[in-house]
Amino acid sequence: MINVAIDGPAGAGKSTIAKAAARALGFIYVDTGALYRAVALSAVRNNVLESDDGIIAMLSNIDVSLGFSDDGTQCVYLNGEDVSSQIRTPEISMGASRVSAIPEVRAFLLDLQRNIAKENNVIMDGRDIATVVLPDANPKIYLFASAQCRAQRRYKELLEKGENVSFEEVLADVNRRDYQDSHRDIAPLKPTDESVMADTSDLTLDASIALIINIIKEKM
Ligand code: C5P
Repeated sequence: MINVAIDGPAGAGKSTIAKAAARALGFIYVDTGALYRAVALSAVRNNVLESDDGIIAMLSNIDVSLGFSDDGTQCVYLNGEDVSSQIRTPEISMGASRVSAIPEVRAFLLDLQRNIAKENNVIMDGRDIATVVLPDANPKIYLFASAQCRAQRRYKELLEKGENVSFEEVLADVNRRDYQDSHRDIAPLKPTDESVMADTSDLTLDASIALIINIIKEKM
């Protein structure tokens, strides 16, 4: 199986770029952030987001899984309920960053991710795919862009979805999430020695997709 790891900070365009590259190559695109988001949604619903112990206890009562439709679209299920759209809010973004720093949460989601990669050609997108989840992935791509660029893109996305936010809030969230994701003790966001670095700050979406497809094809 061909396993491609794409890691990088929030808002670098990973999901859009990886999804398009996967479609072009006939691979399954796996968005692992959705798993952490589903755990965060469950924590919010159970009123335990602020308590590590509460979150850990909750894990034994929840089931998180992924489904893929024929066109490759991923759905995430929480106890059998499709929560794919409920997990796309700024509250759940911050919550996901919070629950993802808990080792038990990461362990809880590990096999699920590895099993999908064992059985399918995948492009898996996350923070620790190359470092932890799929250390044998080839290629390993670290996709990033400046915080300013990423905040600008996310701001536009949220406005288009009708969310009421200011650019400053979005930039602060991006910086806060970057800090949380790269300074946590477990599986911090960072490239590996083998990672191909892909900076999309000055690239259009199409150019970014072409860059990623080229990197993958070169390795295949
Ligand atoms: O990629 P996305 O923004 O949906 O991820 C939400 C949060 O989940 C990230 O900020 C990060 O803290 C966490 N995450 C992670 N490891 C992954 C994917 C996401 O820690 N593989």
